[in-house]
Amino acid sequence: MKRYNTLNDELKREFGTKVMKLSIDGGFTCPNRDGKVGSRGCIFCGEEGSGEFAGSRLDPIRVQIENQKSLLSRKWNTDKLIIYFQNFTNTYAPVERLRKLYYEALSIEGVVGLAIATRPDCLENEVLDLLSEINERTYLWVELGLQTIHEKTARFIRRGYPLEVYDEAIEKLKSRNIKVVTHVILGLPNESREEILETVKYVGKTHTWGIKLHSLYIQRDTDLYRYYLKNPFPIMSKDEYVSLVVDGLTLLPPNMVIHRLTGDGKRELLFEPKWTLDKLSVLSSIDRELKIRNTQQGERYKNI
Ligand code: SF4
Repeated sequence: MKRYNTLNDELKREFGTKVMKLSIDGGFTCPNRDGKVGSRGCIFCGEEGSGEFAGSRLDPIRVQIENQKSLLSRKWNTDKLIIYFQNFTNTYAPVERLRKLYYEALSIEGVVGLAIATRPDCLENEVLDLLSEINERTYLWVELGLQTIHEKTARFIRRGYPLEVYDEAIEKLKSRNIKVVTHVILGLPNESREEILETVKYVGKTHTWGIKLHSLYIQRDTDLYRYYLKNPFPIMSKDEYVSLVVDGLTLLPPNMVIHRLTGDGKRELLFEPKWTLDKLSVLSSIDRELKIRNTQQGERYKNI
């Protein structure tokens, strides 16, 4: 038993068995890259649009799903699938194209749900209507890349929208009963430990469904890498990260679903921190720290 509410456990409760999540590239771009909001993207975003483990955008999504299924099915041993539209901004296209892609994914044998990663400023009414329709038919969650609540950091990372836009997006999604997962990066430059935990607390107080926490990692194909070479900044050690994550978990609501507690950098592209490559070691260190402190997710939530 974990001392936090994992996605694995949540999906087992929902579907009665393990569910495999497959990441695909729907061929989207991002308004923070195509000039609508910005042209260079978020400072940490790589050439593949924060989706280094998805299928190839050159393949139709059916082919991407079949390829990943055969790669991962031995490890997961289940025929239930959730398709994760991961790369770039997966609601940033004409709604008819979105409809075609989402329904194509849902038509594949074994698919029991969709996860859609997007920006909070890419949820126009007709997109929300489509998401509501999908939500009525299947298991759906929408992932939003917040990363931080602090405007100075948001400007530094070139996120391209203010906090109010995130607040409005989660209200719109919640009012339609659509599950929301928020991405938060721990260790962004010039953020103190207290500031990082303020972001975690803030997300906890939204009462949205899930959260992804991961450490900042620097990939060689990003502007962050070029910035770091000229302006090196402190990078968290594994011990600092583990301690911070455990603090963060105690501040979250006990029922919030924890989708991720480690970074997801690609080995060939990762510059620092190298310890993020050993995910199992990071996760077991988090488990150990929770045990040593005799604490768990939500322990301090009631005191906030
Ligand atoms: S919003 Fe996502 S895809 Fe767009 S630049 Fe930022 S991280 Fe990359």
